[in-house]
Amino acid sequence: MTTGILSIDQGTTSTRAIVFNKQGQPLFSAQQEFTQIYPNNGWVEHDPEEIWSTTLSVCHEVLDKAQSAGVKVVGIGITNQRETTLVWDKVTGKPLYNAIVWQDRRTASICAQMHEKSEEITAKTGLLLDPYFSATKIAWILDHVEGARAKAEKGEVAFGTIDTFLIWRLTKGQSHVTDTTNASRTNVFNIYDMQWDDELCEWFNVPRSVLPEVLDCAADFGVTAAGVLPLELPIAGVAGDQQAALVGQCGFDKGALKSTYGTGCFALLNTGTKPLASRSRLLTTVGFTLNGQTHYALEGSIFTAGANVQWLRDGIQVIDTARASQPLAESLDYDHGVVLVPAFAGLGAPHWKPNARAAIYGMTRDTSNAHFARAALEAVCYQTHDLLVAMQQDGVAVSSVLVDGGMVANNWLCQFLADMVQVDIQRPTNMESTALGAAFLAGLQLGIYADVEEVAQLKAIGSVFTPTIDTDIRSACLQRWEAALKSTLMFHEC
Ligand code: ADP
Repeated sequence: MTTGILSIDQGTTSTRAIVFNKQGQPLFSAQQEFTQIYPNNGWVEHDPEEIWSTTLSVCHEVLDKAQSAGVKVVGIGITNQRETTLVWDKVTGKPLYNAIVWQDRRTASICAQMHEKSEEITAKTGLLLDPYFSATKIAWILDHVEGARAKAEKGEVAFGTIDTFLIWRLTKGQSHVTDTTNASRTNVFNIYDMQWDDELCEWFNVPRSVLPEVLDCAADFGVTAAGVLPLELPIAGVAGDQQAALVGQCGFDKGALKSTYGTGCFALLNTGTKPLASRSRLLTTVGFTLNGQTHYALEGSIFTAGANVQWLRDGIQVIDTARASQPLAESLDYDHGVVLVPAFAGLGAPHWKPNARAAIYGMTRDTSNAHFARAALEAVCYQTHDLLVAMQQDGVAVSSVLVDGGMVANNWLCQFLADMVQVDIQRPTNMESTALGAAFLAGLQLGIYADVEEVAQLKAIGSVFTPTIDTDIRSACLQRWEAALKSTLMFHEC
């Protein structure tokens, strides 16, 4: 009988369940989108009950399919949108408020008030003082829902990121737990001693009693309670989405860089077993913890990647499909002269200019949709180049880039990326790295895999793109980009 692992991938726009076999191949999958709630300018919420109902629904669907096909599912791995914050009543299990999503900026003023603590916060957490992370979101809920803080002080309230909430519900309140990767995104977790930090809790006004127990990524997170799913299954692996993708890409060794090109781009570089404080404004975060040993990562985020292509398609409508960007880009030479700085939602790492705005340079009367497509794809590669430079400045050499996400279906993009970053680009056969990572973690805990070496043998590289560009042409491209970037930052300052 085939053995299967159920991976739950609770993302920002949809919830998915995939059953993988021991070889890491997806056997059955189901996906459901859910509502994005925008109650105010800059606010983003999810309905916790919808997160829960879509989770149950996709899990039931794939478990039924597995059962019909004679696949024996033996455990669960969970991966989730990170930082998104939930607070619920420990007795009734009812959320006190909607989930406040990572993108939500409502707590910007709380961060501004705490400004003098920002360096100390970075020194303990590896993060920045920013509304993005969970801590200010927890405090906001406790201070804006009537009676919430008093209840929390009495120990009657639980906080969790989405993984913790799902585990609480799946185990009917038996487990209030998270893993180190999710804990490391809250701003109240000290990544140096790998514990919740009393001082941070005090600064952010987060009662220690609301926080879950923190476990390794492969651990005993509890067993699903009777009747919740068709089977009672151990929850054995948990990691936040970007970290799960690092594991799914088998980025277990120092120097491995995973870069996901979806709507935005998130690059995680495995820096080994010691946290590396960034001098280049990258985040220092937990990569994964296995058998009590943590691998740390440097993280760089580019706010828009595939979203640039969406803008070409749906915004200014110069292409019909995302795929059409490839032949258009291929139709031009390197010296076409147009540069797009895609700061549609500001600039992320290493600039951190949330209020910068996009610009396009070098247009003539000949400028066509091909230039727009080419410039949109090139920009993502230039931004990745800048992240790698920042990582190298922090002292870690990148050996290769493991890519995934919808955008890397574009071969031209992958080749130009290799040309800009000057290391091999490896694209896996299975693009579901995030869900696969959660399955690998569960498989390690359940003894399906003896160790990470066994998991690493399953790494299936579909294509490798090797740098081939002429050095002078590359320098000219990067110079044009740098000039355009500088001009955009200058415009932002005026
Ligand atoms: P997410 O998980 O963030 O929803 P996906 O990983 O599914 O994103 O990737 C979708 C993104 O990839 C879209 O923004 C789309 O514009 C882009 N994309 C998809 N196919 C291509 C392609 N062939 N070339 C360039 N961009 C593409």
